[in-house]
Amino acid sequence: VKAIATQIGAALIQAEAFANLEKLNQQLEALDRTRSNLIAITGHELRTPLSTIQVCLESLATEPDMPWELQQVMLSTALSDSERMRKLVQDFLTLSNLESGRVEWHPESLTLQECVDLALSRLRTRSSTEKIPQIKTQIGKTLPLIRADGDWLVEVLAKLIDNACKFTPAEGEISIKATRNRNQMVEVTVADTGRGIEPNRLEIVFDRFYQEEGALRRTAGGTGLGLAICRQIVNGWNGKIWAESNGKDQGSQFHFTIPIVQGSVEEKPSLIAH
Ligand code: ADP
Repeated sequence: VKAIATQIGAALIQAEAFANLEKLNQQLEALDRTRSNLIAITGHELRTPLSTIQVCLESLATEPDMPWELQQVMLSTALSDSERMRKLVQDFLTLSNLESGRVEWHPESLTLQECVDLALSRLRTRSSTEKIPQIKTQIGKTLPLIRADGDWLVEVLAKLIDNACKFTPAEGEISIKATRNRNQMVEVTVADTGRGIEPNRLEIVFDRFYQEEGALRRTAGGTGLGLAICRQIVNGWNGKIWAESNGKDQGSQFHFTIPIVQGSVEEKPSLIAH
């Protein structure tokens, strides 16, 4: 009886090992499907600007009598599409490094205000010529210090502020607010008075390559990877990121949370218009 029991035990262990192996196999297959999808989408996204560049350069090379103005149009189209490709490759690499854990995190104790200031000065350097909506910051000075990787935090803020500018007319308004929530986290909100997001899109805007259809897609530029990158970064410090909007043309609010440094001193609120 003892021998049979031992044999049954061994068989059960073997069956469990097979089941685990099968599960692992399914997970690997799913990963492989995701990888193939990603390569297909990226290939498609790269092919479009590449074809435009090729057409422009071919016309320039084969039509020596092309009017000067048209030559300039061709050149600037080729340049802007190559810039789009550069951004796409850069964002794609950032996202895949974040997703596969190949990113070094350097958590430090920070004040949110300094990170917001850095993100805003980065935005001003880039958009010195174009008119952007007024940006107000209302960072609760009762805020404790936060614990995050400063460079990545500035990246998230810059991306959300950049999006808010892109999808809000120049006469609109953007506000950056922060409060401490009940879960020992600081909650940051970047709100705008722009074109808003339909309720059924509030979650999928975080998907890779999601962009609203239509002309805005091209004029607003972007790669459709920004919010996916933001989500990966915020996940990196165990925070949450989500979007809210009352619908079309009703503005959008993007919220995310950051852990606080336990026991840090709290200061007073301030309202600064930029
Ligand atoms: P990108 O901005 O490069 O297109 P993102 O991942 O940052 O890519 O954003 C994905 C999409 O989410 C945008 O193309 C847009 O349709 C929508 N979106 C993002 N931010 C806003 C916003 N503040 N207002 C309205 N729509 C937005």
